Amino acid sequence: MLSNIMIKLIQNIWLTRRDIVSDGFDEALAYISKIIPLKIHKVPIGSKCWTWKVPEKWSAAAARIENLRGKTLLNLKDHPLHVMSYSLPIDKIVTKEELLKHLHTRPDRPGAIPFEFKYYERDWGFCVPHNWLERFKEDRYRVFIDSKFEKGYLKIGEHTIKGRTKETIAVIAHLCHPAMVNDDLSGVAVLVGLAKELGKRKNYFTYKFVLVPETIGSIAYLSRNEKIIPQFKYGIFLEMLGNDDIHGLQLSRQGDTAIDRAARHVMKSTGKEFRLGGFREIVKNDEMVWNGPGVNIPTISVSRAKPGFPHYPEYHTSDDDPSIVSAERLNESKDLVLKVINLLERDYVPVRKFKGPIFLSGYGLWVDWRTNPKLSHALENIMLRMEGDKSILEIADELDLDFEEVLAYIDKFVEKGLATRKKRS
Ligand SMILES: [Zn+2]
Repeated sequence: MLSNIMIKLIQNIWLTRRDIVSDGFDEALAYISKIIPLKIHKVPIGSKCWTWKVPEKWSAAAARIENLRGKTLLNLKDHPLHVMSYSLPIDKIVTKEELLKHLHTRPDRPGAIPFEFKYYERDWGFCVPHNWLERFKEDRYRVFIDSKFEKGYLKIGEHTIKGRTKETIAVIAHLCHPAMVNDDLSGVAVLVGLAKELGKRKNYFTYKFVLVPETIGSIAYLSRNEKIIPQFKYGIFLEMLGNDDIHGLQLSRQGDTAIDRAARHVMKSTGKEFRLGGFREIVKNDEMVWNGPGVNIPTISVSRAKPGFPHYPEYHTSDDDPSIVSAERLNESKDLVLKVINLLERDYVPVRKFKGPIFLSGYGLWVDWRTNPKLSHALENIMLRMEGDKSILEIADELDLDFEEVLAYIDKFVEKGLATRKKRS
């Protein structure tokens, strides 16, 4: 069911021109708000957001390269990536030499059209497969780009699920990048899938799902909502989750908060291979804002990205299309993040009420070493760690046990009146 929503979302909006401030971006937000209701934050173009400025709204109605006999060699109609995002308008005859300076290619992926953008410089440009370069044999060409810079609003979509506490976990993905899928509609799809599941139940934490244009969107959102920053306890950035690669966990800047430990524990418990990297070591994105100077919300990133460029072979090209993502991978990622959230939701600090070692068999707490040697061996060590300073997860990690098993066991202490639960503040 959910994988249907995720795949349908991708199929329906992947081809839209989702440039950072654009009609395409707004359309994509409108589509998603029909699946999960969104509060839309609007920030006027030109607004100062901390040290940044919101760029103008941009669109391109047409873009072509023609030879002087009128033959079209490149046409925006054929693919949305053929024009550089935020290209200046142009209509002139140029030499081959000048044209080549404005053609962007990806030699490592010669058959694909690259994604190029210049949001804050002023330049014009086209994007072509590298193996097209040999087509430009003549001396002069007509270049034509009918693009527009306009007034408008940068938009951010926010979906809130209130929990028992105001302590909030932010789940963030970026919705920009025209006509690409894994970067980062896959993160958006997983975010929507998670919101659907968490919306069905009562939660301890409050969740804010935030859909932004990369970097400037997070900066605009947080700089305009500074007073809510202290409510955010953790952040989870989701990206590049639909391709066929192993998961990667990039730790927060702090590196050892409850969300770092929970995510690492869950990744390990799957028994599958995964990448583990420090802050900014696997894939660089908006955690630099959320976990950055003056904000510093511990923000992990979950992806299937390889460290370094390109994060996957089709990265930032026209080959990043629906064929490289699968419902299976999206579902697997959604379930993984949900497990991290479920762990955080249920983790607590057990506080001992007993004195002396517990008469285990008298309370039905004895564990047979023949059926469960690992837990049986750890019993005393668990009993010695209920002084109110360690959470279940910390105890499990210290003793190299599974969180679920330790939770189930310590829950019995609480049920029998031998301990109380304290939420980690
Ligand atoms: Zn990207």
